[in-house]
Amino acid sequence: MSTLEIRGLTASVAGKQILNGIDLTISSGEVHAVMGPNGDGKSTLSAVVMGKPGYTVTGGKVLLDGVDMLALPTWERAAAGLHLVMQYPTEVPGVTLDAVLTEALKDRGRSADVGSLASQLHTEAARINFDEKFLDRPLNVDLSGGEKKRNETLQLAVLKPKIAILDELDSGLDIDALRDCARRVMDATREDGLGALVITHYSRLLEELRPSRIHILVKGRIVESGGPELADVLERDGYAAFTPADSSSADAVSGDYLAGL
Ligand code: ADP
Ligand code: MG
Repeated sequence: MSTLEIRGLTASVAGKQILNGIDLTISSGEVHAVMGPNGDGKSTLSAVVMGKPGYTVTGGKVLLDGVDMLALPTWERAAAGLHLVMQYPTEVPGVTLDAVLTEALKDRGRSADVGSLASQLHTEAARINFDEKFLDRPLNVDLSGGEKKRNETLQLAVLKPKIAILDELDSGLDIDALRDCARRVMDATREDGLGALVITHYSRLLEELRPSRIHILVKGRIVESGGPELADVLERDGYAAFTPADSSSADAVSGDYLAGL
């Protein structure tokens, strides 16, 4: 059983405060969704948790099973069990998927898995309808948006992280790819006890990747948390009801409206 705890996290990028105090707790087997308008800090949250350069943490904590992730370089966070599926997966010319996973498994003390990597890759590729011809390509190079996300999902399936952040898994995906990727992640929560933090601004994804909790992130704060029904409210009413009239302060969200949910 693993737990990722994000406590009072504040962070800035390019001199601008973007995260204004995020509190989230995700445990093994759970799916939490973070939804919110464009530009309000969702990707920044994923970047800060993984330690992407350029983001400055100004306060708060990120703990994985009590271990301070903010004190570790990105690769050690990943080796400890944190995993990010990026909104826009990076192309890495000259480095194959096989090479990446071989090194990553060694870093995780799982050299034994390396021997069976080829067969795992074929099994996993078939499971998410990822064309095997892409397995030998340099990482993500010349792949379509959908193929890149399948490729990233395949890495997650092989590495078996404790907690994964999926930043807009749905962006750049057609319906079939979305279903394949979402189902594989959902299976990982059941089979491997993966805890998933799913970032999206469309409820469509959540029909496949069913969250137990939904959090609404507006202007760098979680302004509301609730059950799956919150996605229906968003689908109906949009984010307007959760967007503070005074854009400088998320505290200004209508208490009456939230109390009525
Ligand atoms: P979301 O994912 O919710 O759409 P982001 O976290 O990507 O939002 O962005 C939040 C804000 O931070 C935006 O105003 C964005 O322009 C800014 N921002 C994010 N990353 C960077 C960066 N590396 N450099 C400069 N500004 C950034
Ligand atoms: Mg984003």
